[in-house]
Amino acid sequence: MISANSSIESTYRGEITLIFHGGLTHFFKSKDDPLETHFQLREKTSLKHIVEALGVPHPEIGNITVNQTIINLTYHPLPGDIIHIYPWQNEKSGEEAHPPKFILDNHLGKLTVYLRLLGIDACYNHNFEDADIARIAAEQNRIVLTRDRGLLKRKVVQCGYCVRGDDPITQLTEVVQQFSLSPYLKPFSRCPRCNGLLEKVDKQTILDQLLPLTRLYYNDFSRCSQCNQIYWKGSHYDRIKPIIQRFAVINDEET
Ligand SMILES: [Zn+2]
Repeated sequence: MISANSSIESTYRGEITLIFHGGLTHFFKSKDDPLETHFQLREKTSLKHIVEALGVPHPEIGNITVNQTIINLTYHPLPGDIIHIYPWQNEKSGEEAHPPKFILDNHLGKLTVYLRLLGIDACYNHNFEDADIARIAAEQNRIVLTRDRGLLKRKVVQCGYCVRGDDPITQLTEVVQQFSLSPYLKPFSRCPRCNGLLEKVDKQTILDQLLPLTRLYYNDFSRCSQCNQIYWKGSHYDRIKPIIQRFAVINDEET
């Protein structure tokens, strides 16, 4: 005679098929897209647990279908299920959408600076521990950018992205594309040091803070509303401008 418990367990024992699409295939050592894999169920298990056991962080997951019905990560798969898993995509656009805000782990300092130069809200502190990043992301509704999949597996992290590229420009390209940031880019509107917003400042009010040559050659100045750092279009600006122009139009009359 079979007890009630063991019959529940056997209901959840068997093979399921998981088909990962798009950017999620990055987490498998294969070039296939879509990528089909199989998983042996041994007990009642949530889909979140299964995909993370396979190395795919849950915040990168968008739509999921099982046998053509839409489900979410709390679903408990049954033997024979064919589950399609798609990457999360920023589908909102237009006036209702708020510009996405980010928090970056402490290996992504250069990416942080580039995002801020493009005017994107990017929170970063090299002293943050993983727990701080997860907590701030949840409290301030920020998207976590990291190269650490363990950080994205934390339950409190709702939205995040595992940065694939090694160099900061590749990383920036990825993030701009992944989160459809183009409509939100406002180059040179944010302080690269502290993330504060820049505001125009009258030269006369800051004359005493300028070096003699800067005072002589430049007339347009901005100041960070948070850290008071003063910015002008000097040699540093000329170096950065071509990089920023890959992503956004710079209107020199306005900036
Ligand atoms: Zn600042």
